[in-house]
Order: sequence, then C-alpha cells, then structure tokens
Amino acid sequence: MNSASKHAFCRYLLQMSLLLPLSLLLGTGLLIARLLSGPWEIFVLDPLPWSGSGQQTLDRWILNPALPERFQQFLRRSGISLLPLLVLVIRRRCDLVGPRLCTAAEVQELCLPAHRADVLPGLISSYQLKVRMNMLFQSEAEIEQQYLSRRGMLHDCGIFLRYLLAGLYGATAAQHRVQEQIGGVPFINLSQEELVSAIMLALRLQCRTHVAFVNPDCVNKAQTDAEYKSCLQQADWVCPDGIGMRIAGHLLGREVRQNLNGTDLLPALCKAIENSSHAVYLLGAKPGVAEKMAQCLQSRFPGLRIAGAQHGYFAESETARVIADIRAANTAILLVGFGAPKQDIWIHRHLAASGACVGIGVGGLFDFYSGNIPRAPLWMREIGMEWVYRLIQEPQRMWRRYLIGNIVFLHRVISEKLHSGKRSMK
Ligand code: UDP
Repeated sequence: MNSASKHAFCRYLLQMSLLLPLSLLLGTGLLIARLLSGPWEIFVLDPLPWSGSGQQTLDRWILNPALPERFQQFLRRSGISLLPLLVLVIRRRCDLVGPRLCTAAEVQELCLPAHRADVLPGLISSYQLKVRMNMLFQSEAEIEQQYLSRRGMLHDCGIFLRYLLAGLYGATAAQHRVQEQIGGVPFINLSQEELVSAIMLALRLQCRTHVAFVNPDCVNKAQTDAEYKSCLQQADWVCPDGIGMRIAGHLLGREVRQNLNGTDLLPALCKAIENSSHAVYLLGAKPGVAEKMAQCLQSRFPGLRIAGAQHGYFAESETARVIADIRAANTAILLVGFGAPKQDIWIHRHLAASGACVGIGVGGLFDFYSGNIPRAPLWMREIGMEWVYRLIQEPQRMWRRYLIGNIVFLHRVISEKLHSGKRSMK
C-alpha cells in the first residue's frame, strides 16, 4: 500500500467510526418512519450529474416530494433525511469533508480548481463552513484553492468540528430585512459585497456617508451614552460586527446575514478603489501605527492613493489642524480607529468639515493590519471565538468588555425577546 492509499484508508476508517453508530441510529428511525409512512416511499432517486474522480453521476437519494409537508419536516428535524448522504460516505462515493459536491457546469462557471477532481467531494466543504459562519469574503474558487493546498486529516477534522459548532449559532439568513435593530440600535443587514458596492456608489454620487460597526459592547455603551446612541441612530450604515450580534439576531428572529467588520472589509474596499482617484486617510491608533499601516497597504495595493496618516492621541486643541490636514489631502475615505464610542462621535461631528465623503469607524483595525497586535487565527474566527483571543491578549482592558459585557448584552437581548413576545400576545 503506497502512502496515498494508506492515507485514504485511515481517513475512511476515521469516518466510519463516526458514521456507523449514527447511521445505525438513523436507520432504525427510518424503519419506524417507513412503517408510519404507509403507501409512500420515503426517498426517491435523484441522480446528480457531477464532476470529479472519474464519475459522471452520483446516486443521490432525496426525500420524496410527495410526502406530506409535516412528515418531511419531521424527517429533516430528526436527521433521518441525512441518511442517504451518510450512505454515500460509507459506499466511498464521497468524503465527510472535501470540495463541495457540484456539477461540471458549476465547476466551469465558478472557475473551481481542476485538481479538485483528484479527490472525493465532501458532504461538508470549507466553502459551506464560511457560508454557515457568515464569513464569505472570498470567491468559492479561492476558498477551494486554499482548502486543497492544506487538505489533510487534521485540517478536515477541524472543518468538521467548526461546521458542527457553527450550526449552534443559528442559521444563515435565507430571508432577511435590510434594516433591523437590537437594543434600540439600528443596523443594516447587507453582505460585505453589497456594502462595498454601496460605499462605491456613495463615492460616485459624492454622498456624505458615516459607516459604523457595532458589536455587543457598542450596543451596551449606547444604552448609557445618549450621544453615542444618537450618532448610531443617525449614521448612514451601521453594520453588525461579530458572533454576539449574530446570536442576538437569531434569538430575536432577526437573522444577521453577514458578520461585517472593518478588518475584513478593508482589503475588499482597497481593491475596489485601487487605481482610482479616491484617496484614503488613516486616523487613529498609537503614534507610528497608522504610518506603518499605510506602508503595509501601499505594498499590498500599489495603486491605492493614501491621503495621509495621523495617530489618534492628539490634543483637543489640535482637532482643527487634523481636520484641515484631511481636507487639504483631498480625502475620499476617512478611516477612524479610536475605538467606540469615540470614533463614531468624532465622525459624526467632523466628517463634513473634513471634506471626506465616507467616514468609517474601524476600531483596532490599524493595530491588526500593521501587525502591531496579531489578529485571532482564522479557525478561531470561524467558530466565533475572536473575542476570547482578544481577552487573552489584553485581559486587563478586555475582561469587563467581554466577561461582564457579554452577559449584560445577553440579558438585554433575552429581555427584548420576552417583551416582544408579550407585546405580540396582547
Ligand atoms: N485609540 C486612539 N485614540 C484614543 C483611544 C484609542 O487612537 O484616544 C486607538 C487605540 O490605540 C486602538 C483603537 O483606538 O488602536 C481602539 O481599539 P479597540 O481595541 O478598543 O477597538 P475595537 O476594535 O475593539 O473596537
């Protein structure tokens, strides 16, 4: 046995040890369901024409659409509907984790890597994990390319566990309203791509726009800081940032579509304005950090125009000088990294005077991007644990924000849910 087939065999054994007990349990459920279903077949064959590993079609079994809706719901909720998928893994037609099962047409249309066909497809893919976690910031082709370069048993176990964990935070919003609110703080429910398009439109139309990001800490602060709350209520786009907002949205039945934050938005925004006349000004963080960030940005996006950089610890009496500097540099996008609420209050007060078109409050972005403070690894962000990493990095500053703040936030959300429940019963 060569090392590749040894590897595939170990992978299969590991999958079997996970799937066989589960399949036996679901199989028993299926037998009972079959007795209850009377004249109906529970599953019908729906072959999937797909591309990969030399196969042309995959014998996929799906729930019989003729079954009564409530019975289908029961089969889905109990997990019995998953059984044919598990059987595909047991028959070695698929792996638990691998490139997403898709047709040849999809592979071509999405420009997915050709060498995906060398391995079995997966019931769970790295792409589906990102969709589940509201973290779809790259194309599927890029995500798959990264996956294939790192593929291995340990990496796949990580994806599997994160996929299960991500399911606990609630479903990705299939249907959503564009405007939602939590704790009296309004937010827009857009994808990152839509947010970038909206910013580009604001630049084109010269429409002055304040973009803010809110996490549970910001919602808490807005309850005791009237000026901050009013700023957020008047800001043009307030975006939900982090796992806390997602859980809150789920509890309140207002599913958050995508986790939006300055750190993930920045590369997409820079790409969109690279080689245009729109210049970015970096305002915030400790002396030297904004300049270092400007260098990093310039080397990653050579065609980006950087209007200037200024640290965030200037005296009140210097504000007029800073505003004049931003104006003189013909700034289109002003990134302000003072942390909340200071940054949003500053943008609210001074954006018009600075002449910048779009002002974005970005928190600790400059520290992350300049490498001053390392950002949580991707696997931690994918399971919504970035805050734990921040807590470990700066326990003295962050313990109140996260350990107390998260409980206060959760309490607020549950009270809001109970109140809205009472209101709808009246
Ligand atoms: N900061 C600043 N001026 C101030 C206070 C803070 O420029 O008067 C900077 C600080 O150096 C840090 C950022 O604001 O870079 C705040 O980061 P924090 O971690 O609080 O923001 P978050 O990303 O959590 O919103």
